[in-house]
Amino acid sequence: MNIEIVTTIPELFEQFTKYGIIGRAIKSNKIRLNLINLRDYTHDVHRTTDDYAYGTGIGMVMKVEPVFEMFDEYLKSHQRPWVIYPSPQGEVFDQSKAFELSKKNDLMFICGRYEGVDERIMSIVDEEISIGDFVVSGGEIVTMAFVEAIARMIPGVVGKAFSVQNDSFFSGLLDHANYTRPPTYRGMDVPEILRSGNHAKIGKYFLKDAIKRTIEKRPDLFLKRDLSFEEKAAIIELIRDKKEC
Ligand code: SAH
Repeated sequence: MNIEIVTTIPELFEQFTKYGIIGRAIKSNKIRLNLINLRDYTHDVHRTTDDYAYGTGIGMVMKVEPVFEMFDEYLKSHQRPWVIYPSPQGEVFDQSKAFELSKKNDLMFICGRYEGVDERIMSIVDEEISIGDFVVSGGEIVTMAFVEAIARMIPGVVGKAFSVQNDSFFSGLLDHANYTRPPTYRGMDVPEILRSGNHAKIGKYFLKDAIKRTIEKRPDLFLKRDLSFEEKAAIIELIRDKKEC
């Protein structure tokens, strides 16, 4: 996958592109991430990418010309990417959107700043996506979150596909509780069954735990979901376990 990030502050992405899952995905060519400095498409000494808002005169708005010039230049040597404008006015991003976008070959994120972008920029935008019903000061931090969630969905980016499939929301359930060593700490024990080595039992235990947590923490997710035969059986067991306690 090819990801283009259009920003006035490419420096913000320096560490993001070096470390962790994204750093490795870039090194192993699973994703190609390119930063486009919008200031390279300005013509004044200050490399200005913003100007006063019409109407109120209060606050700054990202100018239309650098974005269009950048896009024209880009299209000379690339096919048209799917253009995303991270914006609080878009639909709220979720795991299924991450999965959907992970199927695209070319994505371009245009990071807004100030009061947002000149509305005419929307004519080249395919989709506005929000990170949630709150406002941050720039699209960069939002784009990092989106790119990380999308990259996790690309086969081979996360070590074992298993760990992605178990992630919260992937299957419509939250992830089960996780533990690592030591087995006992300050009187708190790792559940016995997880140390048993019996993988069939552990699998069932994890499924029951995921169902229980989803019902407790996010009943809205649970209500939206159809149940498989195994999940129904796990719910029956959960009720029986409770009776035995
Ligand atoms: N005045 C605008 C917000 C501008 S915030 C409005 O109310 O709609 C500046 C930039 O930060 C935006 O252009 C956008 O790219 C980014 N941004 C802020 N909040 C966001 C959110 N919830 N989701 C996605 N991007 C966001």
